[in-house]
Amino acid sequence: MTFKTLGLSEPLLRAIDKKGYKEPSTIQEKAIPLILEGKDVLASAQTGTGKTAGFTLPMLQILTTESKWKRRPLRALVLTPTRELAAQVYENVREYSTFLDIRSTVVFGGVNAKPQIATLRNGVDIMIATPGRLLDLHNQKAFSLARIEILVLDEADRMLDMGFLRDIKKILALMPAKRQNLLFSATFSKEIKKLAGSFLHHPVMVEATPENTTAEKVDQKAYSIDKPKKTAFIIQLITEGKWEQVLVFTRTKHGANKLCKKMIGAGITAAAIHGNKSQGARTKALAGFKKGEVRVLVATDIAARGLDIPLLPHVVNFELPNVPEDYVHRIGRTGRAGASGEAISLVSQEEKAYLRDIEKLLGQKLEIEIVKGFEPDNSSVKENNNSSSKPKQNHSSKRKDGKKKFYGGAKTNNNRRNYKSNNKTQSR
Ligand code: AMP
Repeated sequence: MTFKTLGLSEPLLRAIDKKGYKEPSTIQEKAIPLILEGKDVLASAQTGTGKTAGFTLPMLQILTTESKWKRRPLRALVLTPTRELAAQVYENVREYSTFLDIRSTVVFGGVNAKPQIATLRNGVDIMIATPGRLLDLHNQKAFSLARIEILVLDEADRMLDMGFLRDIKKILALMPAKRQNLLFSATFSKEIKKLAGSFLHHPVMVEATPENTTAEKVDQKAYSIDKPKKTAFIIQLITEGKWEQVLVFTRTKHGANKLCKKMIGAGITAAAIHGNKSQGARTKALAGFKKGEVRVLVATDIAARGLDIPLLPHVVNFELPNVPEDYVHRIGRTGRAGASGEAISLVSQEEKAYLRDIEKLLGQKLEIEIVKGFEPDNSSVKENNNSSSKPKQNHSSKRKDGKKKFYGGAKTNNNRRNYKSNNKTQSR
């Protein structure tokens, strides 16, 4: 299968070529022809599957082939849960529309609204936006949604987690009833299905390869370690393993700041990214990390959602998430775009219940190791663990035994996923 056989136009093929993509990903192969046919699509795909191109390429094609407008009314809207994802989708839209007469813009909070309003008033075809700022600017009459032909809800599950349901409903009410709707979500809770049922018309369901693809490429490891020893351990992992780029997850914003400071104190360049940081600081941290100037990016779940950091070799769960689905999202940050990656979890006694929830979601147990010099005071994890409770000394990034996967191929079961939105967003 090639992009050409999917029915994409020449200017898009040129842009794809410029990006260096050789062949479509599974989600692209499945979704692009359906979207080009004008169908509503309900897609199960998480970041890393190439979902952005999956909806952007056909959207651009539709907007260019069916253009009947002299002025530029807003014809397509992509809603995203986070600023980072909005910025990232926007960058993709711009890249893919290099050879097309298409104008796009991005709109999100935390930055001055004036330039956003000015751009919108000049006329744009596509807007990528987070719900809050969108409504804000709409109230200021900066644009109209009356001519929207295509609506994309990207990472819809996270939008619901973040409490955007009411905003989404308000936005839906501002659009014409006749339009094409695309909903992308990593998971399908009851709430997502309900939302999808409320505005998609006879949607076709598509899935990006079995949803465990990302996890399959990820070498998952867990270490039993007491909370106070975690910082020294992670610093040792990074320095001894000579890791150049590491994404570290903490549960709280405060935890992210604290760890970041300790890293810097240990001579490791680090930056934190979380909801309390200004948009400028978040963008700077991410740019520094992508350029390799920042070795460690410490993030909370919500801030990290949607970040596109290609070929990230290491992800560390400094603390396990209290929502098991977040574990799957976190480890999806590594092993991306065909590369293999390593996801390491530091599990304290207090977090064992979280680990059990994660294992339940994955449908299998994660093997836990104990590292010499970092043994937990109460090594009761051994009971949980059949083979690997012996202290190990080597934890460099290079696996001595290439086959030594700790439960790669983690399977997740959507039907068992049940988002508890009220305990998810606190302090992240
Ligand atoms: P996404 O899931 O949209 O966040 O995309 C994940 C990464 O895969 C991004 O860095 C894309 O640029 C890249 N990508 C998307 N489609 C392809 C493709 N067909 N071949 C190779 N890389 C791709």
